[in-house]
Amino acid sequence: MSTINLEVVSPDKKVFSGDISMLIFRSTDGELGILPKHAPLVAGMIPHVMRIRQEDGSESLMAVAGGFVEVTPEKIAVLASAAEVPEEIDELRAEQSYKRAKDRIEKFHQGGVEKESIDIKRAELALQRAKVRLLVKGKKLD
Ligand code: ATP
Repeated sequence: MSTINLEVVSPDKKVFSGDISMLIFRSTDGELGILPKHAPLVAGMIPHVMRIRQEDGSESLMAVAGGFVEVTPEKIAVLASAAEVPEEIDELRAEQSYKRAKDRIEKFHQGGVEKESIDIKRAELALQRAKVRLLVKGKKLD
């Protein structure tokens, strides 16, 4: 089976490097699956669970907060604003982040004086990042 080299980097580290058979990620335009010999491409990412399919057919999951993917004939480069494999995720921190974002979004929709100080887009993205981290940890969400 053919493979393509994948490199995932975040601002603080190299998260993944190796030959894979397929990458499945969520771009700003929807889900994309990249196989070896895919046409060159640059796409933006939104918070999502990225799936890395290995040569043996197994899949590993990664929580991705955002960033860009570049596909060239030689490799796939993922430049993530933050990316973690399951073992790196602090579940309690993600739960707290999830709750904080949910509370903010609720307050925003209730209106009143507090609404003015809430950046709703920021809270919604924070909620998505927390959800993705909890999903990668295998947590069921409401
Ligand atoms: P928080 O509100 O907990 O800071 P966040 O979604 O705002 O979460 P990010 O801005 O996406 O955090 O990430 C900032 C840095 O912290 C990145 O290096 C990211 O990998 C790391 N990080 C964030 N949340 C977690 C977590 N639950 N477990 C491990 N690392 C995390």
